[in-house]
Amino acid sequence: MVSIKAPRGVRDILPEESWKWAFVLKTASEVAQDFNYKEVHLPIFEQTELFARGVGSTTDVVEKEMYIFEDRGGRSLTLRPELSASMVRSYLENRMDQRPQPVKLWSAGPMFRYERPQKGRYRQFWQLDFEAIGSQDPYVDVEVIALSVELFKRLGMRGLDVVINSVGCPVCRPVHKEALQKFLEPHLEELCPTCRSRYNRNPLRILDCKNPTCRAITENAPKTISYLCPECKEHFEGLKVGLDVLGLHYSIDNRLVRGLDYYTKTAYEVISGDLGAQNAVCGGGRYDNLAEAIGGKHTPGVGFAAGLERIVLTMEQQGCSFGKEPSLEVFVVALGDFERKEALKLMQEFRIEGISSDMDFNGKSFKGQMKLANQLGAACVCILGEEEIKAKKISIKDMVTGEQVEVPKEEAVTFIKKKLTE
Ligand code: ATP
Ligand code: MG
Repeated sequence: MVSIKAPRGVRDILPEESWKWAFVLKTASEVAQDFNYKEVHLPIFEQTELFARGVGSTTDVVEKEMYIFEDRGGRSLTLRPELSASMVRSYLENRMDQRPQPVKLWSAGPMFRYERPQKGRYRQFWQLDFEAIGSQDPYVDVEVIALSVELFKRLGMRGLDVVINSVGCPVCRPVHKEALQKFLEPHLEELCPTCRSRYNRNPLRILDCKNPTCRAITENAPKTISYLCPECKEHFEGLKVGLDVLGLHYSIDNRLVRGLDYYTKTAYEVISGDLGAQNAVCGGGRYDNLAEAIGGKHTPGVGFAAGLERIVLTMEQQGCSFGKEPSLEVFVVALGDFERKEALKLMQEFRIEGISSDMDFNGKSFKGQMKLANQLGAACVCILGEEEIKAKKISIKDMVTGEQVEVPKEEAVTFIKKKLTE
């Protein structure tokens, strides 16, 4: 009996699913190559301070979702809840400002957030993360959005919408914040408890509350884009021009403010109607003040993160193709001691030639081995019986047609190769 279970909110990705993940990851790596983003592997835990300062102390992520622990040296460490802060930390630490700008990086791996688990929401989940660090050009924002759209397109996903907004910068945000607070003040008592607590600390987030009462109240609230300073306004115009040039359809969502404090100017999401409440497949935007927030010099950046589980979920719901599921090509059946040695050798020959093959390792009978071949979904079975070995032959059975032929041993590889390409 298994009494120890996986912790709440995490999942095992088993073979039935892992090959689909591999397809998405491979596609991501191809898109990255085409857009000239280089892959990096960053640590899964970082100093807690990185996220506290980088993500922002008033965000949901930092306030209640982080996995924080103390190591044996008494340091406070945190399992990364997202990648942008780590990417910028790595950029600064490795003096990537010395490289041609912007530095374009991508990475894939697990993130950790203590959230209420539900469909499409886990405590350990994977993100594909793309970041372009070191340019203010709105066309980099356009490129990042185009990259995400291209990725989803290559994955065959349909019915996706790009929503954009601009959340301004430290120049225009305070003016908007004041207007927003003034607008909300008469309704303070009607807001949900979370929003009431956000009123002073982070009123912008009230715009994105899902509570129907809060939504009704904020229906006509001051929009961030009406308060943009000239620089942010110009940047937002540049973003729209670039998206138009590429013919990328988008809509403006004035409620899109994103959960992380470091965002400046562009905020965007790609949403899917097929995901229900957790409808964001990816989210991103610009974070020109993140580098400074974590103690580095001012370095603009823009990027996005896409949830791998949500991508796979959407693709499954839409019946998208994950390419060809890897399958077993040959199963070698052998009974006696001598035959099993021959089987080992034959299997090795196949494997060296890139033909996937397997055999029984549990002393099964002939019937048992045939059954196993079937269960493993083998395309063909090679039978190495006493007779066959004596005659230096192999019986090859096509598991689909049931057809069986004898071929000389040295022709087995060529025969199978030909058969598999038929
Ligand atoms: P949400 O609105 O779903 O909470 P978020 O704004 O917190 O998303 P981001 O921090 O932008 O999400 O992360 C980018 C992407 O990572 C999301 O669009 C989503 O696809 C995925 N994601 C975020 N949190 C989770 C989670 N707990 N489980 C699975 N995927 C997640
Ligand atoms: Mg969230």
